[in-house]
Amino acid sequence: TRILLKDYVTSGYPKLSDFNIETAPAPTKDQLKVNQVLIQPLYFSVDPYQRGRLSGVKDSYVESYKKGEPITNFLVAKVLASTSKDIKEGDLVTDHDGKFETMYITDAKHVNKVTVSDGMEIRDFVGVLSMPSYTAYYGTFVIGKPKAGETILVSSASGAVGQMVLQLAKAQGLNVIGVAGSDEKLEYVKQLGADTVFNYKTCGNLTEAIRKAAPNGVDIFYDNVGGELLDAALANLNDYARVIICGAISQYNIKSADEIYGIKNMTNVLVRKAKVEGFIILDLFDSPHYPEFVEKVSKLYKEGKIKYKTDEIDGISNAPQAILNLFEGKNFGKTIVKA
Ligand code: NDP
Repeated sequence: TRILLKDYVTSGYPKLSDFNIETAPAPTKDQLKVNQVLIQPLYFSVDPYQRGRLSGVKDSYVESYKKGEPITNFLVAKVLASTSKDIKEGDLVTDHDGKFETMYITDAKHVNKVTVSDGMEIRDFVGVLSMPSYTAYYGTFVIGKPKAGETILVSSASGAVGQMVLQLAKAQGLNVIGVAGSDEKLEYVKQLGADTVFNYKTCGNLTEAIRKAAPNGVDIFYDNVGGELLDAALANLNDYARVIICGAISQYNIKSADEIYGIKNMTNVLVRKAKVEGFIILDLFDSPHYPEFVEKVSKLYKEGKIKYKTDEIDGISNAPQAILNLFEGKNFGKTIVKA
């Protein structure tokens, strides 16, 4: 089975009919050339940035998927056969841009051999140690430079990035405000240690809601959503605040440029002497912060000091629905697909 992009999604929300689920004969080990591996994905990561890759437009930082070809993303797989001296049958590998297929052949240089450390599971490669989890670590510490006693506001706080941000910030002694779109999600955010939470869908005026949650102002805004919530956060900044532009999911499915939300409160960045900084984690896997993240977060996770909720969807055929879920807020935690 494999998941193909049927046609580019040029505007609005993606639909199930934008994908083709195809069954084709599985590749065999006889088809392997030198230094290749035949692999069977076990878990696929599903992430909002894939929306840009469905669009047919060359995204600013990552190639679009091609019409009629399998969609791809980070995955963890079992090696079924190999002609590489470094990788053996039975090894576990990750492929940072692997195909949504039951089995496929790829060059050995495209995969990384990994081992599951004690106390961890295979699915943790797409869970607590996933790309969004590293995103949270990098954004919080390297850009946010949090100091104990400061107030951090986190949007999409129960998601893959958000749940990690809020726990790292809490452990650092910050006052944490979590924003999400359902009461069930807010309950989880509270369990993770957020001091104050609110539902952006039901709170009424967003600027007022943030003011109420952070009467002394916001020192760090970790923004996963963009648009109106970003604007409302800008209106509540303290002097020397840091605004971490991680994502803008509220803007990913607009139908035309007229729908782009126009930010009104930029002047407050000047008045508050604030710093606004974006970053793309895919460029930052060579950074020394990556091994540091793996070490520190694995340790905290094994010690039970941080939790990480995954939303596991069963079966590769349900991968298109898993992608759609992200934009309808139907996912709860990091979205992964079990092959
Ligand atoms: P999540 O697990 O948080 O899933 C997406 C969530 O976004 C949904 O569950 C929903 O939660 C919320 N959402 C969807 N539409 C809207 C909307 N219109 N307004 C407000 N909230 C909405 O995803 P991730 O944690 O994986 O990603 C979070 C953000 O971080 C994304 O914008 C993503 O693109 C970005 N990102 C950026 C990276 C980088 O390198 N800069 C790397 C990884 C992620 P709810 O029910 O609360 O509305």
